[in-house]
Amino acid sequence: MSNFLTCRNYIAGEWVNAASGATLESRNPADRGEVVATCPRSAATDVETAVAAARRAYRSWRLIPAPARAEYVQRVGELLRQYKEELALLMSREMGKPLAEARGDVQEGIDCAYYSAGEGRRLFGQTTPSEMPNKFAMTVRMPVGVCALITPWNFPVAIPCWKAMPALVCGNTVILKPAEDTPACATKLVEIFAEAGFPDGVINLVHGVGEEAGKALVEHPDVDLVSFTGSSETGAFVASTCGRTHKRVCLEMGGKNAQIVMEDADLQLALDGAVWGAFGTAGQRCTATSRLLLHRDIKEKFTFMLKERTSQLRLGPGTDSDTDVGPIVNEKQLQRVSKYLDIAREEGAKVLIGGEVAAVEGLQNGYFFQPTILDFVTPQMRVAREEIFGPVVALIEVRSFEEAIAILNDTPYGLSSSIYTRDINRAFTAMRDIEAGITYINGPTIGAEVHLPFGGVKQTGNGHREAGTAVLDVFTDWKTVYVDF
Ligand code: NAD
Repeated sequence: MSNFLTCRNYIAGEWVNAASGATLESRNPADRGEVVATCPRSAATDVETAVAAARRAYRSWRLIPAPARAEYVQRVGELLRQYKEELALLMSREMGKPLAEARGDVQEGIDCAYYSAGEGRRLFGQTTPSEMPNKFAMTVRMPVGVCALITPWNFPVAIPCWKAMPALVCGNTVILKPAEDTPACATKLVEIFAEAGFPDGVINLVHGVGEEAGKALVEHPDVDLVSFTGSSETGAFVASTCGRTHKRVCLEMGGKNAQIVMEDADLQLALDGAVWGAFGTAGQRCTATSRLLLHRDIKEKFTFMLKERTSQLRLGPGTDSDTDVGPIVNEKQLQRVSKYLDIAREEGAKVLIGGEVAAVEGLQNGYFFQPTILDFVTPQMRVAREEIFGPVVALIEVRSFEEAIAILNDTPYGLSSSIYTRDINRAFTAMRDIEAGITYINGPTIGAEVHLPFGGVKQTGNGHREAGTAVLDVFTDWKTVYVDF
């Protein structure tokens, strides 16, 4: 295979195999006969070497002035811009995201680089009056130490950037453990960090299986902080292990996001939002719209419009510019989506369109699922409460604004949310009463920007935020300083 990549770990500035020599494969989910890359299947010994390298590098990296640390991150942004197209194509091949979305994923990394680099010239502390004469009081931000960054496959460039860039500007050293499905994207990204000239050991990459390399990192006594994005099940393990081993932990987990469409909404706008929110990245976004709460006065009309538009979506490989909806990332996820369709049918929901594993012409071996609308869903059904993570949206009829808010909130998750209405009072009431980390008014549940805090409430997170200035509270400790003079 001409485009085949052999990926390695990056430890202390060297590209190395796993000590055991064991490897894993990543395949194109649109055509699983195509191996995109092999990567090391790392074990605890590889993690040990990486943590030791990060610890050594931390001693000098933390002493480099923040504006100088930021210059390296700025350089990553410039290089990402240079390699954007190559990286986007690789992403489309490796995890199936349509090319336009893959470019957006890389662009988030670029935006994050420039934003984080700017922070190197701020990292503000405070001065404050002391109670005593001849005493000066202030606060400064200190780095936390060695940070393990454990990331999912659905934003294989953006999410590692969201974590690594602020962590590095703040003076930490990092070990990235990317998802098993996207080792090639992670390798290319870390190659770019290496090209930007970071000192050896400041950024390290360890590939491998979550239960092996990921677990070893989370349990390692010399890791000071774990920043994790992934499923709630894994997040619970990460949180409890960090609790036992006294590590700081930042968790970004699942969602069950809803879009409300009120009777006074601009239906065309709401339709654009619903289609993009539900079927972008084949619904495999933590912020995907998986419930549509439709006011009964517009439900029939809106459902007709949605069905019509959904029927026109073109399934295909991410690399094909005609593709609207790409494949599901792997077989396990495909089975998960199929299982939820069985559950929906058993629970009495009606499959309005889609509902089946799909075949795409010319691709015998892809993990495709038809864009699916489930109608007559009630709030208590499992498909209305559990994260499906596929191109499936559940329609729920509501009779009032109050009922819509109550149903939207009636889930264990609290990541993203949206309401379409022309009524400013409802818009502001929704902003106040929705239990979610993010609320869009007249916009879809997806579309986060890097200079604003990102994260969720309830079981989606543990109170931390990525992006914006809020991420500085993850990657720094406050030190209070009193000076007598
Ligand atoms: P996952 O939990 O299976 O894997 C995430 C990462 O954790 C991977 O790198 C994996 O190797 C690692 N891992 C798995 N088991 C581990 C263990 N025992 N110890 C340490 N690490 C381990 O999640 P996924 O399937 O890759 O991603 C999909 C999930 O991610 C969805 O639930 C989605 O909602 C969530 N997600 C959340 C956000 C957010 O910001 N809230 C963003 C993207 C994705």
